[in-house]
Amino acid sequence: MRHGEIKLFKVGQCAHFESMLFRGGAWKSVRIPAIVGLVEHPSETLLIDTGYAPRFFEATKTFPEKLYALTTPVVVEQSLSEQIGNTQVDFVFITHFHADHIGGLRDFPHASFIASRKGYEAISDAKTSRFSKLTKALLPALLPEDFAQRVLFIEDLPRVELSTSLHPFTHGYLLLEKYFVIALEGHALGHYGIVVGETFFIADAIWDMKTLTQSRLPHPLTSLIMEDSVAYKQTVKKLQALHVNNPTLRLIATHERSLDV
Ligand SMILES: [Zn+2]
Repeated sequence: MRHGEIKLFKVGQCAHFESMLFRGGAWKSVRIPAIVGLVEHPSETLLIDTGYAPRFFEATKTFPEKLYALTTPVVVEQSLSEQIGNTQVDFVFITHFHADHIGGLRDFPHASFIASRKGYEAISDAKTSRFSKLTKALLPALLPEDFAQRVLFIEDLPRVELSTSLHPFTHGYLLLEKYFVIALEGHALGHYGIVVGETFFIADAIWDMKTLTQSRLPHPLTSLIMEDSVAYKQTVKKLQALHVNNPTLRLIATHERSLDV
């Protein structure tokens, strides 16, 4: 399904209690999709995240990683590479390094990656134990071996002032001379969204649009997995203000269940 200039695909899903996603949600298990974007521009093709991939099961076969698979039941009907066929992907923009966003990276051996240096350091740091990475939903086995040679860090892109249509976000990074990369802090270290035309892919800044439209924040328990829950709430407030300032800007959240994909 096309949303503005971004074509969306559902690449796997997991199950969680709805009550975790937003206040007032039901205590019932719901299926949460992992949505990725494909932007086909005449000069290059860009993917926004890669979703889950069958290798997630490989990467979570042994302890401690098995805990991830046990606490978060995952289903992958069709990998992204199967869904997009032989589309040549030039760049993969990584919103953050959680397993449900980088599962398919190894399927694009010719693509360059665009990602946060801070986020990359957290997943690749040799001094951090596998267990403590796991508690942050980081599975380093999903990264291609040559990742470091193929990545362009967001923090090194030209920093630009944003137009008033994106306020209260005032600054971002310019990618490929036409996309704006904007920090959406709180959910994970080095969590970024990307503006493509009239669409803002906000990844995990919110899980459900009700957080934005009805101020129903995720369950307090989820602060355990948030990198910084104070920053998270500030980001939600900024997105709410943006939505008022520019109601026609389409916001795409990775795990939004009501999206028509
Ligand atoms: Zn995430």
